[in-house]
Amino acid sequence: MKIAIIGAGVAGLTAAYHLSALEHQVVLYEASGQTGGLASGFRDARWEWALERFYHHWFTSDDAIIDLIRQLGQEDKLFFRRPITSIWYKGRIYPFDSYVRAMLFPHLSIIDKLRAAPVALYLRLLRDWPRLERYTAHEWLTRWMGRRGYQILWEPLLVGKFGEYYQEVNMAWFWARIHKRSPRLGYFVGGFQAFLDVLTERVRKQGAEIRLHTPWNVSKQKRFPQRLVSSPTAC
Ligand SMILES: Cc1cc2nc3c(=O)[nH]c(=O)nc-3n(C[C@H](O)[C@H](O)[C@H](O)COP(=O)(O)OP(=O)(O)OC[C@H]3O[C@@H](n4cnc5c(N)ncnc54)[C@H](O)[C@@H]3O)c2cc1C
Repeated sequence: MKIAIIGAGVAGLTAAYHLSALEHQVVLYEASGQTGGLASGFRDARWEWALERFYHHWFTSDDAIIDLIRQLGQEDKLFFRRPITSIWYKGRIYPFDSYVRAMLFPHLSIIDKLRAAPVALYLRLLRDWPRLERYTAHEWLTRWMGRRGYQILWEPLLVGKFGEYYQEVNMAWFWARIHKRSPRLGYFVGGFQAFLDVLTERVRKQGAEIRLHTPWNVSKQKRFPQRLVSSPTAC
């Protein structure tokens, strides 16, 4: 088949990888000047590693991407470290990477903590995530954790990540962040951009064509071959 993929982010590249492996004729249309989308990085010629536009990590439970890294023969570049996870509140840093440390956090009452802990445990154990799709994270967490616990622990993170849209984020997405989270976090030698470069190269090697600076106008079903100037924030 002749297949057009719009966007050479991780999803588009992975689709192109699998489809071109099956010998389909694949063309990827990418609006910006590089592949990788949100997960991409940038690099000065003097730097050994690329810096990411947005900080990323993998969990030890992220089986699909770990399997992809293996298929690409790059498992020796994947490594996991255990970072110290802390919370920044009112000008101070509090370690927050265990239930005991969370219980010692002084800015929540015992009641708030007794509500927050079972919620985290419930999300960790729950497998039937589709039932959460009916709620936003904002409404579900406020309801079950209580307003104060939610406002101190989770709301700032949702705002930091989603800005003005934070109240629209689906609870199933939030569930995945808790359910899949592992104490050790995974990185790729050279940064995420190095992984994306390997994936891009393999996709090209398998015969797929990647057209950079080529936005696809979905509404008109017509390709505009004008060139775009990309900036770190535009991606
Ligand atoms: C702050 C932040 C932190 C994150 N942290 C993590 C993390 O730790 N771990 C993790 O696994 N994930 C994380 N993510 C999520 C991860 O970045 C995304 O899930 C993933 O990069 C999405 O890939 P994608 O291919 O679906 O979309 P995108 O990366 O958005 O790629 C879409 C591509 O399509 C192109 N495009 C768009 N419209 C057109 C068009 N009309 N024509 C042609 N091209 C077009 C864009 O230029 C872009 O390159 C994070 C995201 C953010 C923002």
